[in-house]
Amino acid sequence: MSLHLYDTWTRSLREFTPLKPGEVGLYTCGPTVYNYAHIGNLRTYLFEDGLTRVLRMNGFKVNHVMNITDVGHLVSDGDDGEDKMEAGSRRTGETAWTIAALYTDAFRADLKSLNIVEPTTWCKATDHIAEQISFIQEIEKKGYAYVTSDGVYFDTAKQASYGYLGRLDIAGLQGGARVDLGEKRNATDYALWKFSQPEDKRQMEWDAPWGRGFPGWHIECSAMAHKYLGEYFDIHCGGEDHITVHHTNEISQSEAAYGSRLSNFWMHGYFLLTNDAKMSKSAGEFLRVQLLIDKGYDPIAYRYLCLTAHYRSQLNFNWEALDAAQTALDRFRQNVHSMGAPGPSANAEYVKKFIDKLNDDLNFPQALALAFEVSKSDLPNPEKKATLLKFDEALGLGFANWVPKTVDVPANVRAVADARWVARNAKDWAEADRLRGELTALGWTMKDGKDSYTLNPS
Ligand code: AMP
Ligand code: ZN
Repeated sequence: MSLHLYDTWTRSLREFTPLKPGEVGLYTCGPTVYNYAHIGNLRTYLFEDGLTRVLRMNGFKVNHVMNITDVGHLVSDGDDGEDKMEAGSRRTGETAWTIAALYTDAFRADLKSLNIVEPTTWCKATDHIAEQISFIQEIEKKGYAYVTSDGVYFDTAKQASYGYLGRLDIAGLQGGARVDLGEKRNATDYALWKFSQPEDKRQMEWDAPWGRGFPGWHIECSAMAHKYLGEYFDIHCGGEDHITVHHTNEISQSEAAYGSRLSNFWMHGYFLLTNDAKMSKSAGEFLRVQLLIDKGYDPIAYRYLCLTAHYRSQLNFNWEALDAAQTALDRFRQNVHSMGAPGPSANAEYVKKFIDKLNDDLNFPQALALAFEVSKSDLPNPEKKATLLKFDEALGLGFANWVPKTVDVPANVRAVADARWVARNAKDWAEADRLRGELTALGWTMKDGKDSYTLNPS
């Protein structure tokens, strides 16, 4: 089966064919680095990682670009409120630049713990101010921009196609917002450039033809996607919340400047919920990868949990589900490890079945079920192992490098165990039993194998 992906633009499954043979241009909206990422954010990056792995399994070279939003994302997600970076700076007492660097590093560490492959290109919004200004100038030249006392705005009423991605009810939105429009002409108009207000004392601001200030969040992605992937590329991704505003506006800007809807496919990962509500960084327990580690989980157990749900359905997080994922993962990895060395080739029939499942809009839950089927099959161990290692190129559970945890045995315990091993081999059963009793008193259990023994805390 050839690769089929769900495209939010058409609201349907479409066969995926790259625009340039053999190569895929992929843009994924990156984190706003004003705080740590929560595991909900990371569910979206896990979905995107699954997508890039499946694209690679299909033989495509993937040019994966991810931005770092380090300016311009306002607290309200609209055009009002404080910049999240400036707010983060106030919260922590560090400069906006320092926290951007700190949380970017933390984000990359999270990706690493979840075995998420890094993009081929990282780009920071603050490194691309000139590109954003010239993109806005292009929009202005085409007649879609207007200036108010607080910034430069996009006039969505001039664009008949505006809002198609989000299937927006423009008239309804306009009616609902009439009173709070301020100087904005239409409810759906959005900021391209915001002016610094003297009372804000911003740390991040630049000169631009319209006045000193900072770029809007949407223009960042349009400008960087355009720079690294061109006017029209293959796939653009983000979380489901991006459908109605952020991606709708990215498309609107590109359509105005270049007459293109920017990307051929628009794909969205659905939310991770806690107690059936949207997860947020401000409400309740802040669920970070580090918290999972502190509680004794392997972060890959969270990856496993995400693989059990399709990316287009919301997933409710709770600790019982993570416990179950951790147990299943441990057993699975132990089982794969015990298969010994892999043979020279994977089982072609199973690999085909596996890719067919993934090519059906990334059906990871079924692909994972197939991996279990293989592990229980009567294939010879070397072939079974080679097949599961091949599957793991997409699953990313780290089968190849996993080894059972070795236990740190204190030297005095080791000495008693060695003495017991000698006594046992000399058939001095009384001494062997006495030393076993000593080990028990020290809190250890010794298990005899054929050629060696193992020790575990009892
Ligand atoms: P942000 O750092 O807020 O810009 O968000 C980073 C990514 O996480 C975006 O693609 C969001 O759509 C996504 N996201 C935000 N909240 C969640 C959630 N609860 N579950 C899954 N993805 C989310
Ligand atoms: Zn974006």
